[in-house]
Amino acid sequence: MRTAVYPGTFDPVTNGHMDIIERALKLFDRLYVVVADNPQKNATFTAQERVGMLREALKSHNSRLEIEYFSGLLLDYAKKKKSNVIVRGLRAISDFEFEFQRAQFNREFAKDIETIFIMTKDDYAFLSSSIIKEIAMFQGSVNGFVPAVVEKKLKEKFGK
Ligand code: ADP
Repeated sequence: MRTAVYPGTFDPVTNGHMDIIERALKLFDRLYVVVADNPQKNATFTAQERVGMLREALKSHNSRLEIEYFSGLLLDYAKKKKSNVIVRGLRAISDFEFEFQRAQFNREFAKDIETIFIMTKDDYAFLSSSIIKEIAMFQGSVNGFVPAVVEKKLKEKFGK
């Protein structure tokens, strides 16, 4: 069985993430979507909320997905799940440096774990969780950019 781990902050999940997940599911039999905390980012939604939104948005794929929160080193998570592939998405050259450093670090500490990159769909190249939050904060429409459950949650959080 081919398995992979797709880690991220998912604060909140966007259609850009959804697209990467759907495409990764074409390559792997099982995908572990792992919600992590990025020490460089202050999350807007709690880990529980982020996991909840992902689970709701992806409920039709549930048999091939496992969605959970993990606090710790990603490599330890991947080993625990006996998975030797990490999936990341790439949007622009600006993502490259950070991702390159991460992938090198992971290779240094776990030689048998490979990081693979899936290119964004053009339509979502500009899309990030922070842009979505900025739009929602100023009462703009995020329709078409995030799953319905996220649109609802953003309204609850930022709606007037
Ligand atoms: P992190 O804080 O780990 O970067 P994110 O939740 O921001 O977590 O992103 C998780 C992964 O999804 C990253 O590899 C990121 O590059 C990718 N990603 C985010 N948005 C998009 C998008 N619009 N298209 C493709 N990949 C994306």
